[in-house]
Amino acid sequence: MGCVSIGQTIHSATARGRSAGFPGTQKRGTWATPPSARFISLGAQCRWELKNKALLCVAAPHASRFVIYPMQVDYSRRIGQLRRRLTKAGLHGLLVTHLPDLRYLSGFTGSSAALAVTRRGVRLFTDGRYTHQAADEVSVAEIQIVASSPAIAAVEWLAAQSGVDFVGFDPARTTVANLARYRAALPARLRKSFLSELAAPLVEPLRWIKDADELAIMTEAALLGCKLFDHILTFIRPGLREIEVAAELEHRARLLGAEAMSFETIAASGARSALPHGRATTAVLPRRGFLTLDFGVILKGYCSDMTRTVYLGKPRNDERAVYEKVLEAQLAGVAAVAHGAGCADVDEAARAVLRAAGLAEAFTHSTGHGVGLEIHESPRLGAGQTNRLQEGMVVTIEPGVYLADRFGVRIEDMVAVTKTGCQVLTPAPKALIEL
Ligand code: ZN
Ligand code: ZN
Repeated sequence: MGCVSIGQTIHSATARGRSAGFPGTQKRGTWATPPSARFISLGAQCRWELKNKALLCVAAPHASRFVIYPMQVDYSRRIGQLRRRLTKAGLHGLLVTHLPDLRYLSGFTGSSAALAVTRRGVRLFTDGRYTHQAADEVSVAEIQIVASSPAIAAVEWLAAQSGVDFVGFDPARTTVANLARYRAALPARLRKSFLSELAAPLVEPLRWIKDADELAIMTEAALLGCKLFDHILTFIRPGLREIEVAAELEHRARLLGAEAMSFETIAASGARSALPHGRATTAVLPRRGFLTLDFGVILKGYCSDMTRTVYLGKPRNDERAVYEKVLEAQLAGVAAVAHGAGCADVDEAARAVLRAAGLAEAFTHSTGHGVGLEIHESPRLGAGQTNRLQEGMVVTIEPGVYLADRFGVRIEDMVAVTKTGCQVLTPAPKALIEL
């Protein structure tokens, strides 16, 4: 019997989880594969015991039930999904070089690798620095340690497989120089036809829909973001430099287990809050004015992304009015999210509120974006986008108003799309906070 500690997040995830694709709450159950050390740890507030292949809650004040949770990411299922897409595209194999795709398919987290997938085999190529790490992380693929370029070794291996005549590569992730090198490594008779440019990415669409494991991690990442926000509220005061706020936030993030920040922390105060991407500078926080904080953490490879705008001092009426409109637009955007909703329609729901308030011109970016292993993923929630949201997608809803040389406000949540709506993964308060 093992013993693991799992925090409250799994309760919210589980209680809300049925429609979001979580495995749900059950009295009992078993895993298809035995639980390994690679379980998903969700904090340390509740104690859970691993008993008869079930997670038994033994000391949670607010729950007295078994929660069955898959403890191992099912990479074989992901490879299976990819193979179906390969067959549909008329390809015999795929060269994967984009590291987030590679991580998604195999679990490998190193910085130098290529993955070769055929209808029958999967092989990961990496260099000697990753011998042990690859063996530890990857079970879905054979591993080959190479002395030179992993991608070229992958191309050579693919070319040597019988029945593999057409192999796709993602032109959006392949430089012209690299493609020339791959082709040069092929036997002359294969140089022209063997590598085919994908008409559309094959792995990325799989990544758009998050499975239960991913949703659990992203819930945890978003909650860590909220914890950081709570903490930074106690730290912020006039006279501090923006970079001190960012440094405190990032330092605390690492202490709480973040692998890294998802992007350079935005801390934009006073008139700088009118910059949508106002990275923290040496500017000093004013006695009176907005402070926009946009930040995220990476947890188990997954990014979180949230924005809150707070006020130092007492806001003027015009400042408060703009804040209220942005909040109204943000809530309208969240309310428009559901399985089947058009990405452009969600954007319009938020934009219409600001347009009606005469602030259309001041909302200069799209309403949101997909997030996952990368901070910006598809779909984009913007005008003219024809994609529809699907259950399991995680997107941000982040309208903003930017009044040059005056002030700006943005509010951003991460939400998981469900059949009937969405789960807001960022429960930090959104009513205007005055510090
Ligand atoms: Zn953001
Ligand atoms: Zn964002």
